[in-house]
Amino acid sequence: MDFRLTEEQELLLESLDELMERECPPSYVAQCDREGRFPAEFAQALADNGFGLLGVPEEYGGVPVDTLTLMLVKERLMKNGGPICLFTQPFLVDTVLSFGSEEQIAATMDAVKRGKVAHCSGFTEPGAGSDNSGLATTFVRKDGKVHISGHKSFITNADTAPYMMCLARDPLQEDPRCAFTTWWVPMDAEGITVEPLDKIGWHMSNTCEVYLNDVVVEEKDIFGREGEALKQTMKNFEVERLLMAAASLGQAECAFDDAAAYANQRVQFGKTIGSFQLIQQKITDMAIKIENMRNLVYKTAWEHDNGIPIRNSSAMTKLYCARAACEVIDDALQIMGGLGYTNDCRISRLWRDARNARIGGGTDEIMYHVAGRGILKELK
Ligand SMILES: Cc1cc2nc3c(=O)[nH]c(=O)nc-3n(C[C@H](O)[C@H](O)[C@H](O)COP(=O)(O)OP(=O)(O)OC[C@H]3O[C@@H](n4cnc5c(N)ncnc54)[C@H](O)[C@@H]3O)c2cc1C
Repeated sequence: MDFRLTEEQELLLESLDELMERECPPSYVAQCDREGRFPAEFAQALADNGFGLLGVPEEYGGVPVDTLTLMLVKERLMKNGGPICLFTQPFLVDTVLSFGSEEQIAATMDAVKRGKVAHCSGFTEPGAGSDNSGLATTFVRKDGKVHISGHKSFITNADTAPYMMCLARDPLQEDPRCAFTTWWVPMDAEGITVEPLDKIGWHMSNTCEVYLNDVVVEEKDIFGREGEALKQTMKNFEVERLLMAAASLGQAECAFDDAAAYANQRVQFGKTIGSFQLIQQKITDMAIKIENMRNLVYKTAWEHDNGIPIRNSSAMTKLYCARAACEVIDDALQIMGGLGYTNDCRISRLWRDARNARIGGGTDEIMYHVAGRGILKELK
């Protein structure tokens, strides 16, 4: 088994390192986080340097690369302390290529190539979090148009995305298995109101409540097939969960690097704290978790690249990586002592940001549900 990266992958990551050194220093990320603003300048720099093209098919002017390469970029972006909200294109592109119309695909490709948010995902509602079947947003057909009304919760980038993939229920359809359809809703349509939430982390992108009051779309704005929204959503989640795991891996590596450097330099009791066995134990446990995370992320990406279904493995990978990252970052904070608890060092931001991976994209408990059920089905 060959664990080495290809020369192209090495060069790509080196060029990302150089770009981040120039355009995305820790002070810039800290400032965007403090001000709660999207890192638009660095998003633009990524696009200008070709990172927006990665994973976009050639016919849309992009540079096709495998899933592993996309995950490597996300991991390195986070390892270098970059903003969690950037480089989301792997799942945006995967989703729209799987189910989108030509118009929806073209709009998405155009946005990701320019480093812009392409669309947001409107699944969650006040009464439907882990349980999508509780969705209460409805769509009804009237005079040749489709009218959508409801309330979506926790929708990331709803204030900046030009479109929302909006899951809605057909109130006339009695069979719940085919009652849900996804609509591609322009966010500037009449009847939409967006209210950002005040979160403990992820300050560089807004997560919003979205109210849809008789929003009118056309039949052509269907996303995928009528009645298949829940099935499509499960498929969408596979690459999204893998990408979240790659981000968790990179965040853990970032915190680990900072903590290890600090342990080698901070002196107490006349010695560097790294010379104490209790600190060495933490460092070793952290390194083992990072190694496990990396193996899971790379193997699942490899499976996806080789046409092997990743429904179970992406759930297991996200579950493990989200939790392991929280543990590694928490240990890193502990190694930094009081400094770790201040906003002067980036570990405090990583600590706040990493926690969301155990909730967004499906909670830890739902990952157990998906993987546990899937594993037992495979072994039946
Ligand atoms: C920062 C952030 C960004 C987000 N972005 C988006 C977005 O862009 N689009 C979107 O649609 N949603 C988004 N979400 C919503 C996210 O997907 C939901 O919060 C998540 O799916 C959980 O739903 P809930 O919050 O309603 O919790 P609930 O489903 O109410 O769950 C509450 C608790 O009960 C547990 N639980 C639920 N069911 C079971 C079960 N069967 N067995 C055991 N335990 C169970 C859960 O695991 C959790 O611990 C975002 C959330 C956050 C925090």
